[in-house]
Amino acid sequence: MTQQRETPISKMRDNPNIAVIGAGVIGTTVAKLFQDKLRNANITVIAEQYSADTTSDIAAGIFKPGTSFKGPTNEITKKWLNDSWQFWQDILKTPDAEQMGVMPLGCYIFSKENYHVTRNHLIEDLVPIYRPATKEELKMGPEGTKFGSYLSTLKVESERYLPWMGKIIVERGGKLKRGKVESFASLSNYDLVFNCAGLGAKYLCNDYDLVPIRGQVIKVKAPWVKYSFYGDYDTYIIPGLNGVVT
Ligand SMILES: Cc1cc2nc3c(=O)[nH]c(=O)nc-3n(C[C@H](O)[C@H](O)[C@H](O)COP(=O)(O)OP(=O)(O)OC[C@H]3O[C@@H](n4cnc5c(N)ncnc54)[C@H](O)[C@@H]3O)c2cc1C
Repeated sequence: MTQQRETPISKMRDNPNIAVIGAGVIGTTVAKLFQDKLRNANITVIAEQYSADTTSDIAAGIFKPGTSFKGPTNEITKKWLNDSWQFWQDILKTPDAEQMGVMPLGCYIFSKENYHVTRNHLIEDLVPIYRPATKEELKMGPEGTKFGSYLSTLKVESERYLPWMGKIIVERGGKLKRGKVESFASLSNYDLVFNCAGLGAKYLCNDYDLVPIRGQVIKVKAPWVKYSFYGDYDTYIIPGLNGVVT
């Protein structure tokens, strides 16, 4: 979320002072993208927690939006997903992808109950492969599996991605400050403020509709797991770099 005062970005002076609240996957990416666009911008990331203590560090990081995910319009939702996919694809094409924590990932979705659970209308036309699982592949699911899909997607390991982005931001002259922003008014010396506070926005913006809906994961070493597997009720196993499975 951005809070923009009088000056639109296009008319902003050459070296605006920009604050990014939050150093999770969103904050670090926003800061870096803004540096890409405005080389002379003075970017300061202000965050209470940095890697490894953000929610982003805990996430498995698979690119597979929940089917209820939506922006203000279908077009905007589609654009967000397309742009995000393209952003990660561009990283995947670089030799740094693995060090940045970005990896391609094959994913099976199995269900004993419902064919629709194995579909994802948001990315079926976006990812290179999204197809029904074969009879042979269905045998990899839990006993009683009736339906299945296979898709090719990617995953982002924040434990690598966040420090990498932090390094780029600092190399380009940006600053990483640790601290809690109590109110937007306290940042009145900045030309532009990006709110990337994640769940912290609940208090920063008095947005009491913002509640975490779920999220317990266990990370174990299981280097033999090479694909991601989803079962009913969004249970999953997602492999990562270093042989750690979420
Ligand atoms: C268990 C679990 C598994 C998940 N798995 C996936 C997955 O596989 N794929 C996927 O796409 N998503 C997944 N998610 C969701 C994903 O983790 C989040 O959507 C994502 O990490 C949000 O990133 P963020 O940068 O917005 O927020 P965060 O990572 O929470 O970062 C917020 C930042 O803002 C800072 N901050 C907050 N308030 C303030 C303040 N007042 N002042 C200063 N700093 C502040 C914090 O310290 C932190 O630096 C999962 C989430 C959980 C919990």
